[in-house]
Amino acid sequence: MASEFNSTAFYKKLKEDGKLVGVRCKACGHLSPEPRSMCPECHGFDMEWHPFSGKAKLSTFTCISIVPVAMAAKGYGRDKPYCSGIVTLEEGPSISARITGVDGAKPQSIETGMDVVLDLEDLDPEHPSLAFKPA
Ligand SMILES: [Zn+2]
Repeated sequence: MASEFNSTAFYKKLKEDGKLVGVRCKACGHLSPEPRSMCPECHGFDMEWHPFSGKAKLSTFTCISIVPVAMAAKGYGRDKPYCSGIVTLEEGPSISARITGVDGAKPQSIETGMDVVLDLEDLDPEHPSLAFKPA
């Protein structure tokens, strides 16, 4: 049986609800910001959608100048690196995301620990991906 907790449903919620909606395990309460049908904690299958606030802190980041095709099409590249990082959500879990609204060519201007929020402005309908921007 196909699980309803897949990335297609995840990005549909992101686009239509404008919210980061992950999953919560009904058995043990484990929160995951990614769609998954099995709880990584208790291996149960009783999951439900759970909205996250979209508020997070930047844990770590890296600026990327050798970019994938989809990013090159947006004008990123050697002269305009983009920034990718791990953000720790207000609710506790961490997730990898693109960091927008920062200057990838000046990594020293980007601070770990800074407050970031979910950024939906730049959401690519063809290749949706999570992005966070400085709060
Ligand atoms: Zn669980």
